[in-house]
Amino acid sequence: MSSLDIFNESNIYMPGGVNSPVRAYVGLETKPPVIKKGVGAHIFDEDGKEYVDFIGAWGPMILGHCDEDVVKAIKDTAENAIAFGAPTELELKLAKHICTTIDNVDMIRMVNSGTEATMSAIKLARGCTKRDKIIKFAGCYHGHFDGFLVEAGSGVLTANIPGSPGVPKGSIANTLIAQYNDIESVKELFEKYGDDIAAVIIEPIAGNMGVVPAHKKFLEDLREICTKYGTILIFDEVMTGFRVAYKGAQSLYGVKPDLSTFAKIMGGGLPSGAYGGRRDLMEQLAPMGPVYQAGTMSGNPLVMAAGYATLTKLHSNPHYYEYMDKIAGKLQKGAEEIAKEKGLPLVINRRVNMMTMFINEGGEVANFKQAKASDTKLYGRFFEHMLKGGMFMSPAQFEAMFIGVKHTEEDIEKFVDLMRKF
Ligand SMILES: *Cc1c(COP(=O)(O)O)cnc(C)c1O
Repeated sequence: MSSLDIFNESNIYMPGGVNSPVRAYVGLETKPPVIKKGVGAHIFDEDGKEYVDFIGAWGPMILGHCDEDVVKAIKDTAENAIAFGAPTELELKLAKHICTTIDNVDMIRMVNSGTEATMSAIKLARGCTKRDKIIKFAGCYHGHFDGFLVEAGSGVLTANIPGSPGVPKGSIANTLIAQYNDIESVKELFEKYGDDIAAVIIEPIAGNMGVVPAHKKFLEDLREICTKYGTILIFDEVMTGFRVAYKGAQSLYGVKPDLSTFAKIMGGGLPSGAYGGRRDLMEQLAPMGPVYQAGTMSGNPLVMAAGYATLTKLHSNPHYYEYMDKIAGKLQKGAEEIAKEKGLPLVINRRVNMMTMFINEGGEVANFKQAKASDTKLYGRFFEHMLKGGMFMSPAQFEAMFIGVKHTEEDIEKFVDLMRKF
């Protein structure tokens, strides 16, 4: 079957033909290619067309597709251990590796997705503080948990869904919204509700309104306010963990969260998630403590093996991060030069190996409001031009593009040359 035939038939059996909305190319003429195979930084669709992949499964494939060590770990494990619902040594290996290499994680609980990680971290924070309210930031995305679907980024934003039908008012009644990089908006909420705020959750480098890094002072002030009010500070590092640095965004900023959430890279491309942090908080989880959270598939052997293979490889090759920074810098520089030549209003926000090319007249994107002012129509045309020419990047303006260790100078040159023809 051709790529298009498969996608068209998929629409009969799956809403929008997809299992996650952003894949459907909402609002674009182009239909998404159906992907068959990935090798390193390249993927191939069912028609055999090759693309340089700047999505990388939305982050996880930092080592490139089907990295030999990850494939071997999955294959070897599958021969003997697919699922038990009982403790395994593989869980210990991954948990110990994360707790000993990541600062601020004393104990960890494995789950199956980023959504599960963040919603469980919130539950734990509420359980520990015996408070109900949480603060999230406009434009940040923490998964599809009801309490987070207010002014959320990522696909929610692209599909222009203000909240989501199906979320009862009660579920978001305790969700307070502050503005990214605006500490005054946080202070105002604390002055009003301080003693009721269980947690503040934030992407320390936002990736889901497009890449918008937090200002250092903003995160430091946030830490101070949370400490003052006894509020749990949660860094959602589902995207940034093991990506912008092995030790995540928290290591770049030197700000210490109470809890951190991970997913994406930590599962090596298999469905994964985890939350961890201060021992006294984690010990409140069942069976040690009263806060209940469970999962039949949590800590699954295949996921643990793929995650362990990925994280140990990243950890023992620190030069990977320098390489990705260099390659991504080359891409940024090339794109900025072309934008200048063409008079294209381009704002590139980048941290190491994740970036967004905002088509934006404002000259700066530091918060949700500025991100939303981007020219999504023109971005859509840019995207379609790049896709046609073999560059697989986000179909939506409000997402990140990811550079991995397998991207080459040649991939970048191709991207820049193609951009010149836009
Ligand atoms: C992707 C993402 C999530 C959700 O993870 P899923 O595995 O898709 O449920 C949560 N938070 C952040 C910051 C993310 O980037």
